Amino acid sequence: MSSQSARSADYDLLVIGGGINGAGIARDAAGRGLKVLEVEMADLASATSGWSSKLIHGGLRYLEYYEFRLVREALEEREVLLNAAPHIVRPMRFVLPHDKTMRPVWMIRIGLYMYDHLGKRVSLPGSHTVNFPHIEFSAGLKPDIRSGIIYSDCRVDDARLTILTAMSARDKGATVLTRTKFTGGRRENGLWTAELQDMRTGARRTVTAAAIANVAGPWVSSVLQGVPHKATGAKVRLVKGSHIVVPKVHSLGHACILQNVDRRVIFVIPFEGKWSLIGTTDVPVDTPEEAVDITNKETDYLIEAANRFLAKPISRADVVWTFAGVRPLYDDGKSDPSSITRDYVFELDEEGGKAPVLSVYGGKLTTYRCLAETALAKLAPFLPPQGPKWTKEAHLPGGDMPNYNAFRDEMFDRYKGFPREILDGVVRRHGSRTPYVLGDIQRVEQLGRNFGAGLTEREIECLIADEWAETAEDILWRRTKCGIHMDAAQRQAVEDYLKSRKPA
Ligand SMILES: Cc1cc2nc3c(=O)[nH]c(=O)nc-3n(C[C@H](O)[C@H](O)[C@H](O)COP(=O)(O)OP(=O)(O)OC[C@H]3O[C@@H](n4cnc5c(N)ncnc54)[C@H](O)[C@@H]3O)c2cc1C
Repeated sequence: MSSQSARSADYDLLVIGGGINGAGIARDAAGRGLKVLEVEMADLASATSGWSSKLIHGGLRYLEYYEFRLVREALEEREVLLNAAPHIVRPMRFVLPHDKTMRPVWMIRIGLYMYDHLGKRVSLPGSHTVNFPHIEFSAGLKPDIRSGIIYSDCRVDDARLTILTAMSARDKGATVLTRTKFTGGRRENGLWTAELQDMRTGARRTVTAAAIANVAGPWVSSVLQGVPHKATGAKVRLVKGSHIVVPKVHSLGHACILQNVDRRVIFVIPFEGKWSLIGTTDVPVDTPEEAVDITNKETDYLIEAANRFLAKPISRADVVWTFAGVRPLYDDGKSDPSSITRDYVFELDEEGGKAPVLSVYGGKLTTYRCLAETALAKLAPFLPPQGPKWTKEAHLPGGDMPNYNAFRDEMFDRYKGFPREILDGVVRRHGSRTPYVLGDIQRVEQLGRNFGAGLTEREIECLIADEWAETAEDILWRRTKCGIHMDAAQRQAVEDYLKSRKPA
């Protein structure tokens, strides 16, 4: 395609989907000088990208399925993302308690040797074995467990990773429209004419684009049905995964990875200071809508799997929050949902060398940056000349700090006398943008109303102005996790505040 005709379109690239992969592609493309529009039919990270296990990890278990390419890439991305956003990506140690019903120690050691060496490790420590009881690593576990294997990965605030990536896309010039649905498209004169609908007002409009990236996650096939394309047989497999949140099972900073009797593993991860996040399940579903809530069967499965190892058993009565998401996996024909590839696959459809639609299947939060680079390489022949790869060394908004702990201490010093709960939340969420969020305040009253859990009126206004927040859910459960720390009346107060600030 000549750059001349591509430039006659409203946009070089229309990205459909505001999950991590859509945001990643929009950011990368905008940073290379392309004119980008990203549309999201609901809120950013409101689908799979907000309901993950919140790990930036190589995926130890994928080694059993010989997914060496994926594991190497994911291991390397841990260090890249730690550098890009140290406020929301934090290193974490994992304990794999061992007993003789599990995979043999020699097999786990080989796996961990590969894990330590497959990808470049700069800051994360390597793996080692410990005998239990251990002052740190046997915390919360049954006393009859005699040993454990320790290794490193990272945790992440998944929704914020997505939102910060979209902010970076916007900073580079992309237009990001939330609550805007792509309802169909047609090829005209070598360009796409795409129909968009504003989900708040119902208003419809069209835009033209040289290329489309279909990054609709669980809806990838529905989007494809709305555009002319040649059928290739590529299919998405929807696999639901659910989590429960319970009072923390130990007070230390590490997570546990527990092997169940069915040989699946589940994670028990420190969550929001007071809780442990336990997941996940693998349940095949036919539609994304089937996977909105966890079932009692899944809850019991997670409780039972955790209780095989926990010194103090948990029960349904301990569960304070649950969530479920759908993995939009590439259907590789495998029957066991746990063994379906977690790697990403692309399908490209074009007409006469013009107007491509690139559909994305699968992928992980961890590998979204690499997925975006590959997507742009596939789209390059159809787009105007673009700049080189740039995201590997770049920071996400708030991530440009040499050392997170030193920066946090600096902020605590600068805003001395302010409630720790407020400062801690703002620094964790906004990193080096903290001074922008808090401004030149001298007194805590200048932050406006305090809604509880460290959430102030001033931060809410920043989330609305800069981060596309519109509803209480956007604020309480995605841009922050304050919702879990609040009672119903506090959550309602946020809801009422948002209603009161809108014109009638
Ligand atoms: C239970 C579970 C645990 C996981 N744990 C991890 C983990 O710990 N680490 C990790 O690396 N990965 C993990 N993953 C995988 C990871 O979450 C996904 O690979 C990733 O979030 C997929 O992102 P996406 O952008 O492709 O899809 P999504 O996040 O689903 O985004 C697609 C978006 O497209 C929008 N959309 C759909 N149709 C339209 C349309 N017509 N117009 C406009 N917008 C549209 C949707 O609203 C949605 O927001 C997990 C997944 C699950 C389900």
